[in-house]
Amino acid sequence: PPLLQLDNVGKSYGNVHALRGVTLNVRQGEVTCVLGDNGAGKSTLIGIISGLHDYTEGAMQLDGQPCRFASPRVAQSSGIATVYQNLALVPLMSVWRNFFLGNEIRKGLLRTLDIKRMKRICDEELRRMGIVIPDLDRPVASLSGGQRQCIAIARAIHFGAKVIILDEPTAALGVKQSGVVLRYILRARDAGLGVIFITHNPQHAYLVGDHFVILKLGQVALDARRAELTLAR
Ligand code: ADP
Ligand code: ADP
Repeated sequence: PPLLQLDNVGKSYGNVHALRGVTLNVRQGEVTCVLGDNGAGKSTLIGIISGLHDYTEGAMQLDGQPCRFASPRVAQSSGIATVYQNLALVPLMSVWRNFFLGNEIRKGLLRTLDIKRMKRICDEELRRMGIVIPDLDRPVASLSGGQRQCIAIARAIHFGAKVIILDEPTAALGVKQSGVVLRYILRARDAGLGVIFITHNPQHAYLVGDHFVILKLGQVALDARRAELTLAR
């Protein structure tokens, strides 16, 4: 079965129907791009998958098991990693601390690893992913926006996320930095994650996407796989 399945999911805020009848499959080792104008329901969809919001209609399954996350923490411990555009990392905290943030307690690492060892793991993992940061004690605020997104992606891969949700990871970036982040999206895909790439940028979606979903006024207006988008003549 698909890694993550949404079956006719709906969500209302009082009498505002933000999502309606959303059916969507996210497959392992694929990039699912979600596009849509402001107000289309993208944040609400992310919120449901990441455990921030409950859904009011339909069903969701992770690994073939029904799921309904009570909180972002529960979603995270079930393997859902969410990288928000501006909150990917804690700005004033060091690179290595950010790398372990939220995972050290769950995995009991704080008790079993000393700081030197944690820094070495962070360094090795980032280098393996192609990021070289000479001083891991630097606050992440001193890194570029693209580097921050990449560190957040590397962290999700390292700690065994199954699904990673990227909320407009290239929106604030220039061409070069966007390219770096898009390559990271492919690394997450190649590591076998199901990647959900939320973007306003159709070019970015087309560069990395296997599967494309367009939301319009809370509903799925288009759901197509890459091959289906090839121009027919
Ligand atoms: P997007 O992320 O695509 O901009 P949202 O999921 O934020 O879309 O919003 C979808 C719809 O739900 C919009 O009409 C929005 O105004 C409404 N909405 C979102 N959050 C709330 C909320 N907390 N309370 C009421 N309405 C909301
Ligand atoms: P974005 O387009 O970046 O998703 P939005 O402006 O749609 O941002 O929403 C930002 C936040 O405000 C979200 O958490 C959303 O749930 C909330 N929100 C959006 N519309 C409303 C609304 N009509 N009433 C209350 N909260 C809302």
